[in-house]
Amino acid sequence: MLSSSNKQGDVRDEVGHNLFFEDDQTLMKVVALFGEEAVKVVQVLKGVHEVTDKEIADETQTSVHMVRKTLYKLYDHSLVVLRQSRDKETHWFVYHWRLQPDQFVGFITSMKRLVLERLKTRLRYEMDHEFYSCQTPECKRYTFKEAVEFLFKCPTCHKPMTHLNSNSFIKILTQKIEQIAKELSK
Ligand SMILES: [Zn+2]
Repeated sequence: MLSSSNKQGDVRDEVGHNLFFEDDQTLMKVVALFGEEAVKVVQVLKGVHEVTDKEIADETQTSVHMVRKTLYKLYDHSLVVLRQSRDKETHWFVYHWRLQPDQFVGFITSMKRLVLERLKTRLRYEMDHEFYSCQTPECKRYTFKEAVEFLFKCPTCHKPMTHLNSNSFIKILTQKIEQIAKELSK
């Protein structure tokens, strides 16, 4: 359980509240990119205004070391902020962590831009090349140039290779690109 020292912070700030309710799934998908531990840590951070790493460790039943490691990963992307205070009794430093919801929006946008660029590059590659394959699911496909070198015989299973129709894949790529571009233009 979270200690009473944190109770005053139990009210989420308005921005965070709205973002999480509107797009909680997207948020958690992003967090998942940082690993399973990050998901657990952010679940705790989401529910409070501010929380110490020790409290997160208690709540998630993980080690403080693991929690800190995860928090610093998120901190590197400005997704969390850190406030330092000193324990009145032990005089040790106490670290209070808070989610930065507005930074998540920026992070998601830059991730989407990155994905969009990669998809566009992939689409260009798909459209600029003809592919050949033996149609065996486990085997690779080859560009025309490569297929010529292999005399249109699969180097893995030695079956003849035939032209591969990439139209459906190109269609999927195009749809995905359009979808992300639309999301980014909002
Ligand atoms: Zn093959």
